[in-house]
Amino acid sequence: MTEICYPQTAKLLSVEEALSNIGNAIESISEHERIKLPQALGRALAETLYSPIDIPPQANAAMDGYAFSSADLVENQPLNLEVVGTSWAGKPFTGTAEKNQCVRIFTGAVLPEFADSVITQEQVIRHGAQITLPGDSQPFKNIRAAGSDVMLQQQLIQAPKKLHASDLGLLAAAGIAELVVKRQLKVGFFSTGDELTALGQVPQPGQIYDSNRYMLAGLLSDPSHSITDLGVIKDDQSLLEQTLSSAAQQFDVLISTGGASVGEADFIRQTLEKCGQVNFWKLAIKPGKPLAFGRIGRCWFFGLPGNPVAVLVTYEQFVKPALLQLAGLSPSRPLQLRARCDNPLRKSPGRREYQRGILSQIAPGEFTVKPAGQQDSHQLKVASLANCFIVLDNDCTGVAAGDMVTVEPFDTRLAG
Ligand code: AMP
Ligand code: MG
Repeated sequence: MTEICYPQTAKLLSVEEALSNIGNAIESISEHERIKLPQALGRALAETLYSPIDIPPQANAAMDGYAFSSADLVENQPLNLEVVGTSWAGKPFTGTAEKNQCVRIFTGAVLPEFADSVITQEQVIRHGAQITLPGDSQPFKNIRAAGSDVMLQQQLIQAPKKLHASDLGLLAAAGIAELVVKRQLKVGFFSTGDELTALGQVPQPGQIYDSNRYMLAGLLSDPSHSITDLGVIKDDQSLLEQTLSSAAQQFDVLISTGGASVGEADFIRQTLEKCGQVNFWKLAIKPGKPLAFGRIGRCWFFGLPGNPVAVLVTYEQFVKPALLQLAGLSPSRPLQLRARCDNPLRKSPGRREYQRGILSQIAPGEFTVKPAGQQDSHQLKVASLANCFIVLDNDCTGVAAGDMVTVEPFDTRLAG
């Protein structure tokens, strides 16, 4: 088991320090499984794949037209060819052709052996079984050579990689029906707090609905994880202890929200000190100051803050990259863009802020952003309106209208 040992200083830990502590501590899961191609979207490819065939397997036409031999071309002179057959996609021409003969051919159809060029149907004049090619016709055009996508034995996809739709297409083109991926990460998550009530129940005085678990279920939704909602655990030390020690046997990762700061009802800390090796950090980040990270037995543990927007921010910044790495993928970082800020933003120095913003693209590559609303860490409505984080570094003391800022979009598509 990895030793986790970090200096426990009073200083706030920077986002980078926390990320590198987490990144250095975790190891990706080693178990693999063989799955069928249609189940592979979003999974972590575990073995580099090589092509068992040439793709395309045979030379074929890139356009509808006529297949001919470039040896028949006479420079700067129109050429008359006799059409002696047809090559269809899936039904190749099986005959032979002599000098000054050609074959009607359609996109994707195998190029007949005698031919090395295709002229598009728009470029020729057809009269009965004859066509005339213009004097400036070019040899070797409109052909896709065998292996021009991938050659036999060439690398198809290098592991590790999170497989996307075009990877599935490529593997199918190579005839690969099964592949080896990392097994799914088993992730369990729960909320803590006496004030929380589940959906479908009537909140008693002082109670609120548990929103974190529903948001976390959404954030965690990924083909490389299997997720289990462990419900709400009351602020009761022995209950927490039971939950943690039994869940730690079943999951690779446990995520809790709430109870991670130093309030009197915040039992996560005491409990974890008892049953695991867990560090409690005060991070130089807003929202999301408290974060717990460590191990309970063989299970990784993330203790996120209670405030819903702090959950969103700490999940995206710390848990998401850690889960990708645990799932066997190479380190990656969020997409960052520069945008002109339409409004002034308030910011005190000392912590990196992830404000919730609305990003617009006014022209390709030209962005403006404005705050989505007030920036308190309980304000989920503003997070729901937002489509990006506005990232303001530790030493930033505020933003004037018109200043350029860094943003992290939630998605690669923007409204409008
Ligand atoms: P805590 O970290 O437990 O002190 O919680 C900080 C704040 O977040 C408190 O206002 C809690 O009521 C709130 N909170 C904690 N957990 C949840 C949850 N699952 N859903 C909504 N709010 C929560
Ligand atoms: Mg609490």
